[in-house]
Amino acid sequence: MRISFLGAIREVTGSLYLLETKTTRVLVDCGMHQGCSTCGVQNHIDFPFDPKTIHAVLLTHAHLDHCGRLPKLIKGGFKGKIYSTLPTIKLATLVIEDALHIMEDEYRREGTPVLYSKEDVEATLDQFEAVDYSRDVTIGDLTCRPRDAGHIFGSAFWEVYQKNGPSVAFSGDLGNRGSRILRTTAQLSAVDALIIESTYGNRIHEDESTRELKLREVLENTVKHKGVLVIPAFAIDRTQQILFEMNDLFEKKLIPPIDVYLDSPMAIKATDVMKEFPQYYNNEARALAASGDDLFDFPGLTLTMSRDESKTINEAPRPKVIIAGSGMMNGGRIQHHLVRYLSDPHATVLIVGYQSEGTLGRELHDGKKHVKVLQESVNVNAAILSIGAYSAHADQAKLVQWVEEAAALPKHIYCTHGEEGAAVALATRFVQHLKVDATAPHPGDTIEL
Ligand SMILES: [Zn+2]
Repeated sequence: MRISFLGAIREVTGSLYLLETKTTRVLVDCGMHQGCSTCGVQNHIDFPFDPKTIHAVLLTHAHLDHCGRLPKLIKGGFKGKIYSTLPTIKLATLVIEDALHIMEDEYRREGTPVLYSKEDVEATLDQFEAVDYSRDVTIGDLTCRPRDAGHIFGSAFWEVYQKNGPSVAFSGDLGNRGSRILRTTAQLSAVDALIIESTYGNRIHEDESTRELKLREVLENTVKHKGVLVIPAFAIDRTQQILFEMNDLFEKKLIPPIDVYLDSPMAIKATDVMKEFPQYYNNEARALAASGDDLFDFPGLTLTMSRDESKTINEAPRPKVIIAGSGMMNGGRIQHHLVRYLSDPHATVLIVGYQSEGTLGRELHDGKKHVKVLQESVNVNAAILSIGAYSAHADQAKLVQWVEEAAALPKHIYCTHGEEGAAVALATRFVQHLKVDATAPHPGDTIEL
């Protein structure tokens, strides 16, 4: 068995692995490069393999950096099936269609070439095949099994077993502790090799109780000072976690009522998908839903689907909370709110997710006092706060614990999907703490198992 590390290697976006045996060729994920100046070019470069020769794709989850180049694969002649859970198919459909709209917009405004067409997207959706957690899929001489990764709704890590050969697991992205909606990451089986994400390979998140306290505090302060709280949130998972916790705080009357605007069509649609599959919730959330509670809705919440509805938020009285995408602030409706509120000393921007290098979110997170948003130069007078525990990613401690609690320790570990420092730090931690062979591969590296 041969594995080639083709994307999200020593960086966090563009996930792509090629797994080959003598008779079978499978890809794990086919994601888009995002948030960097060269990303557009990287996405357009031809794949280092012929898409026609690939038998199937194993998709871990619906984030764009894992599924965003699937239509490009189809455009290149890929005819096989794309396997993932049903919620992932529904969410990936939203994500890919949204990506196409953004690219078509950019083409109209700036002439930037689009990566694929509507027809390619439609063909992609036709090639999806749903498979539930712990069900086996046979592809040539490989048996492939998705397991619950607990990262976002429907997310999976894949275990792959070659007939009379080695086994390998691809972690995809692994979930953080303490999700109020998702189940915890399933136990890793005994496999020969593990390819594991390392987004937070060198960091430890604050704990969940701090998270709820911080959210409560920032909401209370917003009400007290008649402020504006702007929360840039990823449309899938982070938004729903925040809505869930706000719903909880309001129901328990732990915070005073405040108007909340969910200003993201994608997040509104993703929330609907999550409501459709309560069987994927953890026990607590499932029981709540079964009791008739709408987990993601509360008095004071307004969903603004259209642009016109979105504009009314500007005139809405304070205090108010605005949740909008994109999560890293490099696009989407959040930018309009940032132009308006970043210079306002009574506003707060609450960062609840990973901010990759080169994004506006990263600049704000790092404390920059002047930034450019939508071609405008803006002074940053708003408070910039962050709550790391909302991350949908496991931190170093959880990553190590997950491997430690596997049915057996893998013989080899490869740390990917993390910036260089994080990937190398995690590999070093595995070597020192678990005494296993662990490395951080370089882009294009190939290993034989
Ligand atoms: Zn992800």
